[in-house]
Amino acid sequence: MAPLTWRHHTLLQALLSRGPLPERDFHDLFTAMSGKNPANDKQLFSDTLGKINKELGYLHFDLRACINQYDGTVYYGVVNTIADEESKLGSKYSVPQIAFYKGLLEAIVQEGGNDGSISSIDALNVRIDNQVVIADNTQDSQSRLPSSITNFLFSQKEKTLSDLIQDRWLAHTSAGKIGLGIRSFLDLRSWFHGNDIPSCVVCNEAGIKASTCPSEACSVRIHNYCLKKKFSQRKAPRACPGCATEWPRQEGEDDAGEDGNDPGEGQEAPTAPSAERSSRRKRKAVKAERVEEAEEAGPSTAVPRRSSRSAKAEAAESAREASSSGAPQPARSSKRRKN
Ligand SMILES: [Zn+2]
Ligand SMILES: [Zn+2]
Repeated sequence: MAPLTWRHHTLLQALLSRGPLPERDFHDLFTAMSGKNPANDKQLFSDTLGKINKELGYLHFDLRACINQYDGTVYYGVVNTIADEESKLGSKYSVPQIAFYKGLLEAIVQEGGNDGSISSIDALNVRIDNQVVIADNTQDSQSRLPSSITNFLFSQKEKTLSDLIQDRWLAHTSAGKIGLGIRSFLDLRSWFHGNDIPSCVVCNEAGIKASTCPSEACSVRIHNYCLKKKFSQRKAPRACPGCATEWPRQEGEDDAGEDGNDPGEGQEAPTAPSAERSSRRKRKAVKAERVEEAEEAGPSTAVPRRSSRSAKAEAAESAREASSSGAPQPARSSKRRKN
């Protein structure tokens, strides 16, 4: 087999030194290196990646593409295909830091529901002791936890959170919350499938940040970017592929026509009732502004954006709670979970 050429090495070197690259940058690099445009020379592009991967496979690395589920951008990156987080994060992060990352991961994909994000406060309150107990799997391991776990300080969590964001294992979402970073999307495909994260019915990838079918009885999830493709014909029926319930229009979908002139709407303070209605009609730039405003005003005014379904479900739930006075409050996370 012919060895890799300088062209292959250039691509690989760029991904290794710069980390995951957006598709546009990676394509530009490919064009600079080969003189061919990957959009027109799809075969050459995939042959080149295939050749690199054949060599990388011996070292348990893989060059792959994935989508950032929060904004639909495609990225290319090189990942370590050995399954455990220790070998991926171990060169830089300590045992308690890795335990914290695992706890955050679980909170984001499970407690975050189909929103795929948690607040910074919830992130810093993620426990790490149970992560180590699970790995250890013995009865009285709590008493034998290393002091690095039991003495892991709040300030160390803050530092780790910021490092994980810097290294793109985690990321700030446009709503100012904490979600998965592109490296987690690249790396954790098999982990998602092994942890029963519901898949998107269109692309079959885990639906971390996705829309849920409006029908309470149906568990179908679809990524927002997959929805756009699926329902791109405006006249076509917007039926759920699982139960045929009509799927509501999503924020950011092309709803020109309803999207009239709304001068000044972007200036109002983000409050819970109006956020739902107006956010559907906002374009990204405006939304980012509002997030900044909310952040400046302090965490209490930052309204987490939810799907109309989960907002409705919560309203119903709190109504039930109110009517059965004295009943204990269910755990907060259980309210947001839908499986
Ligand atoms: Zn999808
Ligand atoms: Zn459905």
